[in-house]
Amino acid sequence: MTAGATGGIRFAIRPSAEPVPGRRRAQLLAQPGFGQVFTDHMVTISWSAGRGWHDAQLGPYGLLHMDPASQVFHYGQEIFEGLKAYRQASGPVVTFRPGVNAARFNRSAARMAMPQLPEDTFLEAIELLVTQDRDWVPAAEEHSLYIRPFMIATHVGLGVSRPSPEYLFAVIASPAGAYFSGGPRPVSVWLADGYIRAAPGGTGAAKTGGNYAGGFVGQLQALDHGCDQVVWLDAAEHQWVEELGGMNLFFVFGSGDQARIMTPSLTGTLLAGVTRDSLLTLAPDLGIPAIEGAISVADWRQGCASGAITEVFACGTAAVITPVGEVKSVSGDWKIGGGQPGPITMRLREHLLGIQFGQLPDPHGWIHKIC
Ligand SMILES: *Cc1c(COP(=O)(O)O)cnc(C)c1O
Repeated sequence: MTAGATGGIRFAIRPSAEPVPGRRRAQLLAQPGFGQVFTDHMVTISWSAGRGWHDAQLGPYGLLHMDPASQVFHYGQEIFEGLKAYRQASGPVVTFRPGVNAARFNRSAARMAMPQLPEDTFLEAIELLVTQDRDWVPAAEEHSLYIRPFMIATHVGLGVSRPSPEYLFAVIASPAGAYFSGGPRPVSVWLADGYIRAAPGGTGAAKTGGNYAGGFVGQLQALDHGCDQVVWLDAAEHQWVEELGGMNLFFVFGSGDQARIMTPSLTGTLLAGVTRDSLLTLAPDLGIPAIEGAISVADWRQGCASGAITEVFACGTAAVITPVGEVKSVSGDWKIGGGQPGPITMRLREHLLGIQFGQLPDPHGWIHKIC
């Protein structure tokens, strides 16, 4: 056993005695899917009110041994993050703006009354895991290693008078294929009806499982109407567009040299996506003005009818940039553009992927080399 040090915390390193054999790993990497296959190792760190962060270790991926009365199972106190490691063409394995994920993790923790994790410990945990499992980072085009840090309340007991005094932080990783084989396919979206995802003062801006748990009913509604994804509207007026279940939305106005993009402002009920933030910076680099604003369902529909809105896309770490081709709702259905991926959508997508995979320069210092 060796140990790595960071910000005062030392990680015990316990490599797996039974890593997946290379041939089997190669088979798994050929068809990884998304979130189905996991690497040989995981990181865990415990926290208690008395000891703070302790027992940091990189060990074999495996089951968590937990008491059924652990607080997370009953009251859902949990947060997570999602980022990727990319194998760049020139060799190194890198991550993209991991410090932004570390900061967002702590904002989620604050909202969910959970302890802060020092950002350098968050980053060190990711670096240790990716370095140990570097052979699991796919080399195929647009494939990556999806990294999932999370924190759960582990205190045993059913009392709810206060947040858990004990937590477990963990990081697992999963090789991920291209979300869409054969290039991105425009998705259809359903405007949520009768349900909301988040309300002012609620947990919508935190990356917490409960937002997903409460949103599945809307996603089922979307599937029932033959749509791929649900779009959430604001809680008060049910007319302002917020985001998808797990992705932010962008609207493209105009075309060619006149094109500009807009995304709903962070009102406190939306999740502040790293991809969203990156596109707000990258688009102007390409000469495409980018603003944050508000768009109603009526404006969306009229904009598509008049041709003012030429493209719409969703964005997030997992699926990068996904064109939206069609909208369905209780008040009517409409198509966007020709139902094909639009040129601005594809240009932004290629530019972002180009930076992440090292084929384009990284003018903003977003790439973080790991190994
Ligand atoms: C994670 C997430 C996003 C996308 O964030 P990225 O940092 O770009 O991956 C958008 N909306 C919700 C609800 C999310 O959970």
